[in-house]
Amino acid sequence: MSMSGKRKEEASRTAFEEAKHYLPGGVNSPVRAFKSVGLTPIYVDHAKGSRIYDIDGNSFIDYIGSWGPLIMGHAHPEVISAIQETAAKGTSFGAPTLIETEMAKLVCERVPSIDVVRMVNSGTEATMSAIRLARGYTGRGKILKFEGSYHGHADSLLIKAGSGVATLGLPDSPGVPESVASSTITVAYNDLESVKVAFERFGEEIACVIVEPIAGNMGVVPPLPGFLQGLRDITTRYGSLLIFDEVMTGFRVNIHCAQGLFGITPDLTCLGKVIGGGLPVGAYGGKREIMEQVAPSGPIYQAGTLSGNPLAMVAGYTTLKLLTPAVYEQLEERASRLAAGFTKNAQELGVPVTLNRVGSMVCPFFTEGPVVNYDTAKASDLKRFTKYFANLVEEGVSVAPSQFEGMFVSAAHSVEDIDATIEANYNALKNL
Ligand code: PLP
Repeated sequence: MSMSGKRKEEASRTAFEEAKHYLPGGVNSPVRAFKSVGLTPIYVDHAKGSRIYDIDGNSFIDYIGSWGPLIMGHAHPEVISAIQETAAKGTSFGAPTLIETEMAKLVCERVPSIDVVRMVNSGTEATMSAIRLARGYTGRGKILKFEGSYHGHADSLLIKAGSGVATLGLPDSPGVPESVASSTITVAYNDLESVKVAFERFGEEIACVIVEPIAGNMGVVPPLPGFLQGLRDITTRYGSLLIFDEVMTGFRVNIHCAQGLFGITPDLTCLGKVIGGGLPVGAYGGKREIMEQVAPSGPIYQAGTLSGNPLAMVAGYTTLKLLTPAVYEQLEERASRLAAGFTKNAQELGVPVTLNRVGSMVCPFFTEGPVVNYDTAKASDLKRFTKYFANLVEEGVSVAPSQFEGMFVSAAHSVEDIDATIEANYNALKNL
């Protein structure tokens, strides 16, 4: 269903001009503005299954999926009706509800390392709170993160970050105090030697290592064999906590999250995206002994007016219940078909592309590769990506407007969608 170069965009352009008067850069989250690719953003009217429909009457096969949450596809009927039924009873009470315990129980059952979990409202809140907990629990101040990883926009994590920060080339944000930035140590992803060196120097001061077990904010970069186990060993040796930021990978790559896929047990886990089923949610959880330090069972404070609200809980709960082993098998099969098609196209057309994929997270990098960290991701030809992106939009396919983001295949993508996307990719590469 190629639009073959006929994207209508007048309504989107007008809407964006108006929005710029009232919202910074016209948007509520930076990468949506399409600034790095120099195009008019797609203003969505509605979406269903694998497709989004914009206010100009165009439709796109969508691989953004609201930046990860919509693993079952847009407007899944069971998720929507669960939200509608729940909304009719009231949207938020600021008092406990049964669905919160149901949701927590399901998360604890499915994520091996989580005994106790606290619900929050975004991935940013989850990682920020987990860091505070790690500092409070260990009585230490420093944290270690990886270059090109994105853990949300809390001050201490906005250092050499990926995602929109990488897309817009803003490695160190103004407004983060030097006193905070100096407590964050950054090293290259997949570089265990540098982690060891950092621990030899600062080991007794490091509260935690926070890592995306599959990096998804510098494009998709899987952990090299031994990397995650190495982090587990070093943190244990020095009495630091290991935090897996599974905001993106949680329930995306496996029913037991990335930690289940790789068989590594972190001390704390951050979740978001999929567990909210398209509504604002985050969560952090882990070993009982550590989580019981959180208020009111312990002294480390963290709270939220809308935390655990019934709409978000029921959307997430319904989504998790839909995620059966059969769904993950289908995701694997469709995503591998997509990746194989893209690789074949690039080879046929002689375009250097490195295709990284874990399950339904797929990322074509415009470089010979291999891509194993942020530096090798940055070796990609960004001009080429920009042209590719523009071509793909004209072909009726929606992907994130950045080389440093992956594509998310959902359960709603049919074989026909995948094959149409492979054809669109061919045309987009041919016209670079
Ligand atoms: N952690 C990771 C790994 C993410 O990918 C993101 C968002 O993209 C976040 C944290 C922040 O989540 P949120 O945007 O919900 O604050």
